[in-house]
Amino acid sequence: MELVRLDFSTAVEGVMAFSTTRGQVDGRNAYSGVNLCDYVGDDALRVLDSRLTLAMQLGIDLDDLIMPRQTHSCRIAVIDEAFRSLDIDQQEGALEGVDALVTTLTGVVIGVNTADCVPIVLTDQQAGVIAVAHAGWRGTVGRIVEAVVKEMCLHGAQSHRIQAAMGPSICQNCFEVGDEVVEAFSHARFDMDEIMKRNPDTGKAHIDLRAANRAALMAAGVPAAGIVVSQHCSWCESDRFFSARRLGINSGRTLTGILRH
Ligand SMILES: [Zn+2]
Repeated sequence: MELVRLDFSTAVEGVMAFSTTRGQVDGRNAYSGVNLCDYVGDDALRVLDSRLTLAMQLGIDLDDLIMPRQTHSCRIAVIDEAFRSLDIDQQEGALEGVDALVTTLTGVVIGVNTADCVPIVLTDQQAGVIAVAHAGWRGTVGRIVEAVVKEMCLHGAQSHRIQAAMGPSICQNCFEVGDEVVEAFSHARFDMDEIMKRNPDTGKAHIDLRAANRAALMAAGVPAAGIVVSQHCSWCESDRFFSARRLGINSGRTLTGILRH
């Protein structure tokens, strides 16, 4: 399985972050090849097979691969010993409607599944805290990354030490939105000159989700120099990364995960 490594602004010892790639793609099947998300309509056995392959590749158990059931919320789950002691059903319950994970545990991969939305991994090496968040436009407007930074700080992190990396997501050119979305960002006090432009031909608004999340991270105290943004666009490179806008909502997802050894 080919993974794209996500680098932080400076090397973080013992921490590995990555996004999956689709691999071998059958153009007629919006779920092919590698999809680890089990709630988007893909064949359950195929999903399990991809999860096993990834777990083996990373040298972890299947149980150590933790992904929430995302709903574009701003809810965060903390993966700790108490969570790990729950049975499978209870764990699933705790991950329902969650869009970000925070942990101080080693040896577990926490990840989110995206197709155009922005996946963000975060780490404070000194505190030994890692996190992952899914920020579509709703999560971005809800400033999910600010909530994640706050949660990390409850576990010993300090915002000025946090490093963040964004994985493959839809680029501004490809992300045309309606005026209700523009309104939502404006309402949430984003600097619209910074994150929005209009296509001169169509007059349509285009939002830069990456810039908006960068602004939200900086508002939470993360230094600009500590934020790295992947330039891979899911729409432009939909043969490599899943794009819900291009492939339809019934399609696979790219997993972005982080692991601390
Ligand atoms: Zn693009």
